[in-house]
Amino acid sequence: MGMGYSLVCKKCGYSRNLFAGCGMMYHEVLREKNEEARNGVHGTRLKELFEEYPNGCIDAMNEIYYCAVCRTVECESSLDFYRPKNPDQAAGDDVFGPDMNEYELVEKHEHSCPNCGKPMKEIMRLTEDTPVDCPECGSELENGHMLLWD
Ligand SMILES: [Zn+2]
Ligand SMILES: [Zn+2]
Repeated sequence: MGMGYSLVCKKCGYSRNLFAGCGMMYHEVLREKNEEARNGVHGTRLKELFEEYPNGCIDAMNEIYYCAVCRTVECESSLDFYRPKNPDQAAGDDVFGPDMNEYELVEKHEHSCPNCGKPMKEIMRLTEDTPVDCPECGSELENGHMLLWD
């Protein structure tokens, strides 16, 4: 289950739909992302972490990231790295994905802005206390209707 957000700029008409969370195909996405990360597709840091914790796992949930420098909003897989609380646990190949309660966070993945390369901030929920500015004109975007997806 995921949450869709629709961001609208009342001033210039810019709008953007973003989808956070995960869909029905989450276990497939998770497996694919883990495989990619293990092979260094998502950077050498994640590859190193997999070498250090071969039974570790990344979180492939979609999160919304915001660059305060150039106002880019992106929706990307979180890629935060977790390891099992029980170090003897084998690498999970559960079709429903690992039970995240059995895992602990090792390191958050740093997301850099695709536009300017500066670190992006994770926005948990688009609410009034996390203002996001319009990439086009810089005025504050309004949170339009919310959509549920699966
Ligand atoms: Zn940027
Ligand atoms: Zn605007």
